[in-house]
Amino acid sequence: MGKIKLKGLSCTELAELLLSWGEARYRADQIYTWAFRHLVRSYAEMTNLPAGLRARLEEETVLEAAAIVRREFSPATGTVKLLFSLLDGQAVEGVLMRYRSWFSACISSQAGCRMGCRFCASTLGGLARNLEAAEMVEQVVALEREARRAGGRVRSVVLMGTGEPLDNYDNVLRFIHLIAQPQGLGIGYRRIALSTCGLVPGIRRLAREGLPLTLSVSLHAPNDELRGRLMPINRRYPLSELLPACREYSEETGRRVTFEYALIAGVNDSLKQARELAKLLQGLTAHVNLIPLNPAVEGKLKRPEPGRVAAFAAVLRARGIPTTVRRELGTDISAACGQLRHQVLREEGTLW
Ligand code: SF4
Repeated sequence: MGKIKLKGLSCTELAELLLSWGEARYRADQIYTWAFRHLVRSYAEMTNLPAGLRARLEEETVLEAAAIVRREFSPATGTVKLLFSLLDGQAVEGVLMRYRSWFSACISSQAGCRMGCRFCASTLGGLARNLEAAEMVEQVVALEREARRAGGRVRSVVLMGTGEPLDNYDNVLRFIHLIAQPQGLGIGYRRIALSTCGLVPGIRRLAREGLPLTLSVSLHAPNDELRGRLMPINRRYPLSELLPACREYSEETGRRVTFEYALIAGVNDSLKQARELAKLLQGLTAHVNLIPLNPAVEGKLKRPEPGRVAAFAAVLRARGIPTTVRRELGTDISAACGQLRHQVLREEGTLW
């Protein structure tokens, strides 16, 4: 059996482990403070712990569930992209995005993805495996270090990197509870956003958790015919099932659902499609986030001209649908979903 990953334990679970070792409960708070407030990278730095306890922690647990193997920084936007190597050699990425005075950490929930969305590089090699909660926490910790280095703090966490979070439901939920702990990173539930391609049973289950998380649904098309071509998941859960599940989510949680719509030139960016989209979302507590496509490394899909994006947004707004156009972050450092991971896997020759 492998060592226990420390960042996968809640403060209470850590206290129980320490009690079973004959240690005092308050040691858990000390370790948590070192790991999540001071963000230390080794037990040796936890100087108020007895040497014997540090040695046992070293022997039976691992503090870091991933190592950074590549770092890219965009001076233009302040975006930092980290490529992590997990303990079994799998690669995942996390991105730190800078907003005016705060940072958002975008993390991956799976190594690879099996959802097959046509515009996404992350799915080209299929799903390697689900990430454990500790591996997701580790990404946030590393991005928090980057934020502090830049003079700020991570204020929100978005599960929008590689993977479909609701396809790894239990680990993702555990991760959310871990980062929300006040003794840990203290990211409030309202500041955590989960993005899904539309796994209806997962959305309904999440609605029942009673957590005020922000739910983002990747829509990308205003009808089943086109959505089915772009996103195979639509054949399993068509719009007639997806939209009622979204309505249920906003009714249960009181939160407005965000619909992500990546604009792809000549595919889903016509004004007719904008009108169709507005009609589809009529009556929902919804918000549309338009994302001019970040061209994938090996994709043939192109982004529309800025004028086209503005016209599409105007149609939605005129019909009462709150709409924003996502600021493009990190396009100069291959920050499209999954790109960096692919680049490295290709260089290493492990993917093809
Ligand atoms: S967009 Fe998300 S759900 Fe779709 S293939 Fe990519 S990682 Fe998976």
